[in-house]
Amino acid sequence: MTHGQERWIGVDIGGTKVAAAVVTSTGEVIESVRAATPAAGKAAVLDTTVALIDQLRAEHTVDGIGVGAPGIIDRAAGRVLFASDILPGWMGAEVRGELEARTSLPVTVDNDVRAMAHGENMIGVGYGRSSVLFVSIGTGIGGALSVNGELRHGAHGTAGELAHLLVPASGAIGCGCGRIDHLEAVASGPAMAAEYASRAGVSVQPLQKVVSLMHSGDPIARAVITDAGELLGRVLAGVATAFDPEVIVIGGGAAQIGPDLLSPLVAAFRLEAMRPIADTAILPAHLGTDAPLVGAALLAAATRTEVSR
Ligand SMILES: [Zn+2]
Repeated sequence: MTHGQERWIGVDIGGTKVAAAVVTSTGEVIESVRAATPAAGKAAVLDTTVALIDQLRAEHTVDGIGVGAPGIIDRAAGRVLFASDILPGWMGAEVRGELEARTSLPVTVDNDVRAMAHGENMIGVGYGRSSVLFVSIGTGIGGALSVNGELRHGAHGTAGELAHLLVPASGAIGCGCGRIDHLEAVASGPAMAAEYASRAGVSVQPLQKVVSLMHSGDPIARAVITDAGELLGRVLAGVATAFDPEVIVIGGGAAQIGPDLLSPLVAAFRLEAMRPIADTAILPAHLGTDAPLVGAALLAAATRTEVSR
């Protein structure tokens, strides 16, 4: 094996953009490209994905492709079993079959948040841990469970999923499933922005603008971020008690807010959880905005290693 020499393409398929990057086995991003997600359904999304892959392959030789995509993924088939409206017409997409046929490269597909968690397990704060609960706070709320560095998918591919936990609050927008009393409806990035609009009586999008208002002293903005952090902390206290992970890793786009979100989260967790769970380490993710791409590429690398063993 020539670890560090091999290169992989990581693909991140999301509701607003499709991104792809050439990544080394140690997680270094060599080149990345992106395009807006077409609204015309799964065939158009896969066409865009292939175009980005072809663009990268014109300059780079790669050994395989890893894809992180929203929804519940049948990993054996590389197919989307279920997806919410975040990507209209995405359900049923034959991601692996289609991409392997059109690129002649091995393709690995997993849920986008599972891919990020895998990246943390390989080269981030999850490395060497006996068990990890990864939490993604972004456009949605996602999660993943890992034991001894390996993702746990469960019987149906949803193990670690946190979006649909029932919470004692109602969001100003719906969860991906439509409910307003699920964690995602209250604590995702768009949910925080909608909550600000509801309290302040003025719509401010996206969440980064609410964060800017908080930094310039807007008390409503600070209260919205603090409340979301506290709710996350209380919910995670229950989840941690059920699964008892060695460490909880907080990632995703909204987690980039930093201590203004994470400090109330950690404080609420420590108050809510029973001992010894209350002492569980809670750490920010190591991989930043490239985490979905790097994680997806490392999924491809891991699959290749399994096959060659
Ligand atoms: Zn839900």
